[in-house]
Amino acid sequence: MKLGIDGRHALVCASSRGLGRACAVSLAREGCELTLVARTAATLEATAEAIRAESGVRVTAVAADITTPEGRAAVLAACPSPDILVNNAGGPPPGDFRDWNRDIWLAALDANMLTPIELIRATVDAMMERGFGRIVNITSGAVKAPIDILGLSNGARSGLTGFVAGLARTTVARNVTINNLLPGPFETDRLRDTAGKWAQKSGRSVEQELDARRAANPARRLGDPAEFGDACAYLCSAQAGFITGQNLLMDGGVYPGTF
Ligand code: NAD
Repeated sequence: MKLGIDGRHALVCASSRGLGRACAVSLAREGCELTLVARTAATLEATAEAIRAESGVRVTAVAADITTPEGRAAVLAACPSPDILVNNAGGPPPGDFRDWNRDIWLAALDANMLTPIELIRATVDAMMERGFGRIVNITSGAVKAPIDILGLSNGARSGLTGFVAGLARTTVARNVTINNLLPGPFETDRLRDTAGKWAQKSGRSVEQELDARRAANPARRLGDPAEFGDACAYLCSAQAGFITGQNLLMDGGVYPGTF
């Protein structure tokens, strides 16, 4: 199936590595021109070059922290009017809520709730005027099944999810959809870093920790970022115009509920 987004312009945030990069790769394979954002110029440029080499699409790389007003201004100056927006940023740190003061909460809300809302605010009206727009927010399986030590993530991402649920119904008549993709355990650098921390505590190896995670999943494996990227590309497709305000959980079936 061709996704009908050849030549569309996609702004993909936090996309030098991991799930953001996978979304960028899948969109490029469908012929989208890209603006990529991440903080480290060298890693970002290497990703941009790899995508250009594979797909032959135009790729602009903006080295910026998407969670700061200056970073967002730089990104929007380079890409003021995308057809497709993929919101993503690093997740907040784990911890005990007793240690989180107001400033720590505000940093998490800024990164994982207000940054995507600000980017939607800056781009959605032009999408509606043009009669095409696709917005995908990378959130987390923790929105459906909260993990206690990830309280900052549970809270900030749930706030974004609630906001999007309302907004998505007001844009779809103009063919602008807004959906959330909820990753479970995907084999990215971030998951490997986290497994490194578990390994330090348990005395087991990183690979043993990852194997335990694989064994605990109904799919008996971790997610491949490429699967995530392709799901994102589908939600951004011409065919997906009747899907909006949804939360698509990709976790190999680890969430045990019927719905
Ligand atoms: P990753 O560490 O592999 O990649 C993160 C990417 O984001 C990198 O390119 C990094 O440079 C960029 N980035 C981080 N903060 C940024 C910022 N402030 N401005 C610009 N770029 C920034 O992480 P990932 O595994 O791809 O995770 C992506 C998101 O999905 C995170 O919010 C994470 O919490 C969430 N998530 C991931 C998993 C998983 O299993 N991988 C599970 C649940 C939720």
